[in-house]
Formats: sequence, C-alpha cells, structure tokens
Amino acid sequence: MGQNTSRRSVLQGLITSAIVIGFDLTTRSWVTSASATSVFESLPSLNGVLYTDNGTLTDASIDFGNIVHRQPIAVLKPGSIEDIVQIIQFARTRKLKVAPRGQGHSTYGQSQVEAGIVIDLSTLNKIHFIGTDRAIVDAGVLWSQLLQQTLATGLTPPVLTDYIELSVGGTLSVGGIGGATHRYGVQVDNVLELKVVTGTGDLETCSLSYNRNLFTAVLAGLGQCGIIVQATVKLIPATTNARVFQLYYDDLATFTHDQRQIIFDERFNYVEGQLVSNNAGGWRYLLEVASFYSPPFVPNNSLLLAGLNYTRGTEQIEDKTYFDFLNRLAPTVAFLKSIGVWSNPHPWLDLFVPSSAVNGFVGEVAANLTLADTGLGPILLYPVKTNRFHLPLFRVPTEEIVFLFSILRTATPPEDAVVTRMLADNRKLFKQNRDLGGYKYSVDAIPFDKKDWQQHFGQVWGNLVSAKRRYDPDNLLTPSQGIFANC
Ligand SMILES: Cc1cc2nc3c(=O)[nH]c(=O)nc-3n(C[C@H](O)[C@H](O)[C@H](O)COP(=O)(O)OP(=O)(O)OC[C@H]3O[C@@H](n4cnc5c(N)ncnc54)[C@H](O)[C@@H]3O)c2cc1C
Repeated sequence: MGQNTSRRSVLQGLITSAIVIGFDLTTRSWVTSASATSVFESLPSLNGVLYTDNGTLTDASIDFGNIVHRQPIAVLKPGSIEDIVQIIQFARTRKLKVAPRGQGHSTYGQSQVEAGIVIDLSTLNKIHFIGTDRAIVDAGVLWSQLLQQTLATGLTPPVLTDYIELSVGGTLSVGGIGGATHRYGVQVDNVLELKVVTGTGDLETCSLSYNRNLFTAVLAGLGQCGIIVQATVKLIPATTNARVFQLYYDDLATFTHDQRQIIFDERFNYVEGQLVSNNAGGWRYLLEVASFYSPPFVPNNSLLLAGLNYTRGTEQIEDKTYFDFLNRLAPTVAFLKSIGVWSNPHPWLDLFVPSSAVNGFVGEVAANLTLADTGLGPILLYPVKTNRFHLPLFRVPTEEIVFLFSILRTATPPEDAVVTRMLADNRKLFKQNRDLGGYKYSVDAIPFDKKDWQQHFGQVWGNLVSAKRRYDPDNLLTPSQGIFANC
C-alpha cells in the first residue's frame, strides 16, 4: 500500500477533526495537523489506522471484567504485520508502553495500557491456509471463525474454549483450556509455529525446533516478550455430531472420583463439570460430558455410563451438531447482552487445585459460598491431566491430575462495594489454594504483585526474566499484567 493510501487510512481513523502526524517528545502528546509546529517526530506510514479519538480510547480502556480502566493515548488497528513492527519501533524510541488486545475478554485490565498504545489485533484476521493437519491464521482470527472454516473440510482444532468468540492470539497468550484438554492439553500445546513481533520491533518465526526460546516465552507468556501476529495451529479430523450427557451428583467426592475415572479411561471426548444450586442454599454437582460421533456410528449410552455413580434419574441426554455443541454459549451470551448483565463487572476467579486437595478445598469453599457471592455466574470444576501440558509458562500443580476450579462471578448489583468484596474473596481463596500447592489460571481478577508473580512462575521465573531482557529489553510490552512493573 502506498504512502497516499497510508495517509488516507490515518485520516479515516480520526473521528476528531485533526490528523495525527507525530508525537511530541517534550509534551509527550500527539501532534496533529492543527497543532503542528516544526518540532515533532513523524509517525511511520501505516497500512492500517492509528486512532486517537475519545470513543476508541475509551473502548480500549474497557474489558469484559469492567473493573480496571486504563486509558491509552492511541489505538493501532493494524492493516499489516509491518504496521505492528513500525509502531513497536516507534513506541520504543519514545518510551511508550504497548499492549496487544485480542477481543478484550480479560477480566482485570490485562490488555490495557495507561498512556500507551493499544494494538487491537481484531483487524489482523485472515485465515491464510487450511491443510490436512494444520491451519495458518492471523492472531486476530476468532476461534469460531476458524472452526467454521475447518469444519467445511472435516477438520477441527483439538481443543476449544467454552466460549469461542476469543482471539487466537488472546488465548495462546494465556493457555486456552476446555473440555478436550484432558486428551490434548491446552491450546498452546497444539501450536506448530508462530510469527511474533518482539519488544525490540523484530519480526521473528519460532517453533519447538527453531528459535525455541522465543516460542516457549510467548505461548502462555501473557504478552511479555512479543506480540503473536500469526500462528500455525494443529487440526484433527472432526465428527459431525456430539451426544451430550448431563449427570447430577449430590456428593462432591463421588463426583470428583467419577471425573478422575473418565479422564483416565478417556471414554468421552469432552469432560467438564459445574457446581449448581440445589435450590436449598447449597450445591450439587453437574457432570457435563460429550461423545463425538458421525452417523451411521452412534455412541453406546450403556457403555459410556457404565460404573458412574450419578444420582439415578437425573440424567439428561441430547444430540447436537458438533458446531452447535461447541458454540453452545452463544444463546446465553446473547441473552446476557440483551438484559445488560454482560457489561456488569466480572471479578472472575480461576484456580488450578491439586487433585489431592480438591475435595477438602472445594468442599470448604462450597460450604460458605452463596449465590450472592457468584452473582449467579457459573462455577466450573473439572480435572485435566498434567502430562498433556508441555509449555513451561502454563503453570499448574505438580500432581498427575489437577482441577480447574472457576468461580465466574458477576457483580450483582454492579456496585463498587460488591466488586471489592468479590476481589477480596478471590485473593483469600487464591492464597488458600496456593498454600495447598495450587496455582491461578492467569485470565482472572486477583490482586497480584511482583512477588506473587515470582512465586507463580517459580523455577521458570529466571527463564522468563532472561527472555524479557532479550526480547523486550525496554519493558515495553503488556505492562498491566504487573509482572515486570518495577523493572
Ligand atoms: C465468556 C468467556 C469465556 C471464557 N472461557 C474460557 C475457557 O473456556 N477457557 C479458557 O482458557 N479461557 C476462557 N476465557 C478466558 C479467555 O481465554 C482469556 O480471557 C483470553 O485472554 C481472552 O482472549 P482475548 O482475545 O479476549 O484476549 P485479550 O483479553 O484481548 O488479551 C488477553 C491477554 O493477552 C494479551 N494478548 C492479546 N493478544 C495477544 C497477542 N496476539 N500476542 C500476545 N499477547 C496478546 C493481552 O495483552 C492480554 O494480556 C473466557 C473468557 C470469557 C470472557
């Protein structure tokens, strides 16, 4: 794209009348065509658009959590990978912080940056290639978009998150867990190659066999060492249908026993679970499992349910298309948006609890947890096998099986006092779980300081620090995670 078009793109992006043409190092503010003097630093030419209008800046200061709000001074909607290279180099020389943003579904400001530049990857959203065992996609592609395209060729990503309107770059920077994780690991375990723009503004390719240090620093790396701009992800054959079983348990220990059993024998393709209200002030336990199939083959219900100790008569069995099953949250999300609850604050808690501690810890939490503590948000509890995880920055307890325990709270009513109480509760439960050898899953809203992060990364902290020094020596990237806040 030529210089004229680039200049036009910048112009189109500005809802305010003036055009940004540079950054004044003395006043640390943008120079517009209206305010220009002879002393300013020119912006690089861009294929995309650098926005500085209030509406766009405000949007970039809001995320799904709606708890933390940090206002950037510009938002880049890149038209190419080269735009990202240019803006990082530009930001580096001017000591501006940069935060990549996928879909902004973080809960605690992780994709925001105060007085820096947000790079909104949603405009980098092309699927470049779908082969027999892999796809090459831009980081801003949504998993739903990729799934729809791969299903047309009879393929699927092995692991999908419960909600599939998340960006590829966003989930690869955190992990990406779902009901198929007990078989295939997390989404970061299913990546073959990445293209990354580092904090030095270099575009690099990396994989397990090439430039491995960067690969392992970026996957589940919380945006600290580079911005994922393109990913080659694994695909496996897809079925057309899913038989979905919902089985209720009254007893936590029986529930977790059966969950462990079925992830060992792998009789189901998908295993999750929830704590649900028993309408008497307490909780019961819902096992959600699915068997994927393509007719004429059909799953054998008796074989699949053999030996499971759910409360008889509670079982619900339903056949869905594979896509509808994976997209099952869409109607609920549409409903929550229609009644305005989707934009309430979401102080989510996501923990990995060691299997040996799960009954005691979750039992005690459940005994004191009320619907007012969750705001009617779901509570997930399901096991995964740690021998499926291969990326060092995806931190889980050392046991063979660990449970994801997520209290996906909605602040109801959406008041500061409610949010404060929920955050304090998150912190308390996080610490209790940490004392038991547990970890947090870093998509959540837990007040966290640098010491917490050092403890979180433990034996890989040194590697992360070295990678940060090498790939982001000026500590430009993704400051709101707070990992290198005082570097
Ligand atoms: C309704 C809902 C359901 C969810 N379900 C699941 C689930 O089942 N399993 C699961 O694992 N997670 C789940 N999540 C959490 C989700 O995976 C994370 O919040 C994820 O980071 C969101 O992706 P995003 O595209 O919105 O990323 P953002 O929130 O925009 O970014 C997340 C972090 O990654 C950084 N980042 C973004 N893009 C890049 C990039 N290209 N390169 C480097 N860093 C980048 C950001 O700076 C930020 O620090 C869910 C979230 C919601 C809101």
